[in-house]
Amino acid sequence: MTEFSLIDHFRRSAMPRPDVVLGIGDDAAVLDPPPGQWLVLAVDTLVEGVHFPKGTPASAIGWKALAVNLSDLAAMGAEPAAALLALTLPGDDAGFVPADFVEAFAGGFNALASTHRLALIGGDTTGGPLAASVTVLGYLPKGQALTRAGAQVDDDVWVTGTLGDAAGALALWKSGVALLHTGGLRERLDCPAPRVSAGLALRPLATACIDISDGFLADLGHVLAASGVGARIEVDALPVSLALCEAFSDASARRLLQLSGGDDYELCFTAPVTQREAILAALAAASTPVTRVGCIIRGTGLTLFDADGRAVTQPARRGYDHFAEDKR
Ligand code: ADP
Ligand code: MG
Repeated sequence: MTEFSLIDHFRRSAMPRPDVVLGIGDDAAVLDPPPGQWLVLAVDTLVEGVHFPKGTPASAIGWKALAVNLSDLAAMGAEPAAALLALTLPGDDAGFVPADFVEAFAGGFNALASTHRLALIGGDTTGGPLAASVTVLGYLPKGQALTRAGAQVDDDVWVTGTLGDAAGALALWKSGVALLHTGGLRERLDCPAPRVSAGLALRPLATACIDISDGFLADLGHVLAASGVGARIEVDALPVSLALCEAFSDASARRLLQLSGGDDYELCFTAPVTQREAILAALAAASTPVTRVGCIIRGTGLTLFDADGRAVTQPARRGYDHFAEDKR
């Protein structure tokens, strides 16, 4: 496949939208944002061997490259609109990229894009070690961004979905289990479902929000730092999947995956106690499971306790850090 035919493949499958004046094919894309909306932008890069194991199917790489970005839009309460895709692909000896890889990648990307009526409006294509960088654009009504900075003392802390599944799949794979045999956990690692409709539903309800990509403790820590508050978290309340319980019978190993595993792409948010009923109703309408896991307190720092109210020691590593000496 040549660079031209690759770009043409993406162009033909891009979703048309009224706000896209010019999409793929010119020197740059042109958008006409709806009046009264703020433009929300995010970019995230996936590198083979760092963000996904070698051997991950091309369709999953395409899906995940977009999913991690939609997760960032969800955390802001924004509605996805468009994306730019910078692809770096290793070619064969003659420099040709295998067409089946590009088609599978585009298939995964487009499956998620069409679910969210998102248009691919441009990108860049280069040769080199496999990597995919996606820039997403979304909208939200002016003044209504869900930031990390709004958590208030006495707010509840909530988490969507379940924690630790993707990290569980990765841990199994690293211990020598074939990815194919990591059961339901693998779906969470390969094809995370960004919580876009939950983010939209939370816009009028949450005081602060973040998506959990590096690990629950690390990402909640960002909310606390930005809001200038602390939190008490009940570790036994952290949502866990049946698949994780089946794969990891040891409760402390499971807890570590939930607390600092990362790659969850769930939302962690804070909201006033008075909004409990409204949150349960709004997230049920968005088909998103949600769990209350603690509360915001005065001061700084995060304390963990168990169901009996006893203090629990925090793991040494709170989440993933690309530049930390002790990488996972
Ligand atoms: P230029 O050299 O002017 O940057 P390119 O040849 O890189 O032009 O791109 C031509 C068109 O194809 C542009 O509209 C660009 O946004 C789009 N494009 C290139 N690569 C991709 C890609 N991987 N995905 C989507 N669009 C792409
Ligand atoms: Mg270019």
